Amino acid sequence: MTPKEKTPAILEAFLPGTTLGILGSGQLGRMSAMAAKSLGYRVVVYDETPDGPAVSCADLAITASFGDPVALARFASEVDVVTVEFENIPVSALEFLERIKPVRPSSSVVRICQDRIMEKEFLLAAGIAVAPFRVITSALQLKEALSALGGDSILKTAVLGYDGKGQISLKEGDDATVAWERLSSPLAVLEQKIVFQSEASVICSRSTTGESLCFPVQTNVHRDGILDVSTVPANLPESVTTKAHEIATEIAEKLEVVGLITVEFFVLADGNLLVNELAPRPHNSGHHTLETTMTSQFCQHVRAVCGLPLGPVMLRSPGVMINLLGDLWKEGQPDWKLLLREAGLFLHLYGKREAKQGRKMGHYTLLGEGMPARDRAIGLRALLGRPES
Ligand code: ATP
Ligand code: MG
Repeated sequence: MTPKEKTPAILEAFLPGTTLGILGSGQLGRMSAMAAKSLGYRVVVYDETPDGPAVSCADLAITASFGDPVALARFASEVDVVTVEFENIPVSALEFLERIKPVRPSSSVVRICQDRIMEKEFLLAAGIAVAPFRVITSALQLKEALSALGGDSILKTAVLGYDGKGQISLKEGDDATVAWERLSSPLAVLEQKIVFQSEASVICSRSTTGESLCFPVQTNVHRDGILDVSTVPANLPESVTTKAHEIATEIAEKLEVVGLITVEFFVLADGNLLVNELAPRPHNSGHHTLETTMTSQFCQHVRAVCGLPLGPVMLRSPGVMINLLGDLWKEGQPDWKLLLREAGLFLHLYGKREAKQGRKMGHYTLLGEGMPARDRAIGLRALLGRPES
């Protein structure tokens, strides 16, 4: 018997003039808020800390704990539809809000994406390949897993990791007790360290009608666990980019995401793909879309969660995105003139007051193709005071 095709329920749309509520107030919220404002929405942000980068771009900012029902109810009364700018929002807050207003993506999507174990279980159940891994709850389990996986591996906290935080590189024979104490988390995964040819990611948008659309694939280079450089289009065979799009679409559909889902991949030498992790939101590797695609990831995020038709995502120009971390501020404000005089370079600073090592302070995108553009983009940052990657 052929299974009956599932027709997605068409969800309510919120037109410009209504209010978008954003949970979280970092740079992803800031750029989503800017996109919403330019479409004519009112924006309310909610975060536990004041003065986040999104606050100055919002009509109203509420600062309160994600566990505060009074503040959450006030937020809900101020907005028409709720979204998230990062996945580490307590699910209980999302469930509370869902009883009052539409939350897109839903708490069930965020729940999966904020927990590495649930995420990997979801992917495996969908038949999507991930790096070999073991769930770890004790030093003894870690010891066994280190020898079972063999060679190099990475121990990662199950929850609350970002930018490579909550990760320890290990190898077979390393002291499991010391590593487990250092990680200091009750639940973790040990992943085999993958020898990849490159890393890539795909941002897939899915609307309230079930329509989905993937942005072009980008290749990503990380440094110290933090995204450093993204290049679009990806320098990968078409068979690989097609496969990446297929996997991202399948994930978006199986999760029934409304909004964006970013899929991070390891690209192996034989062209096979392993999924590293998922993010149910705009992604650092998609910042170049502000200039390189017909619709930016932030505009698409707003369109998708508000129930507007998705915008076209064709590439308008190739480009290279370079992250600007707090390290560059060691000697004070970098000399922005070095970037601003460059034709085809678009600088974005997030307005963070304090520059800390490893903190994402801004980025720029240089339009241009291939190695010449990449070398030029990286060279410009070196001029700002950081060694080349
Ligand atoms: P973010 O949320 O900022 O992407 P994160 O803290 O969730 O980061 P991961 O994506 O798990 O971290 O890892 C960051 C980077 O570390 C990866 O992009 C990759 O470069 C490297 N890395 C992580 N896991 C592995 C692995 N199993 N094998 C090889 N490299 C890995
Ligand atoms: Mg990652």
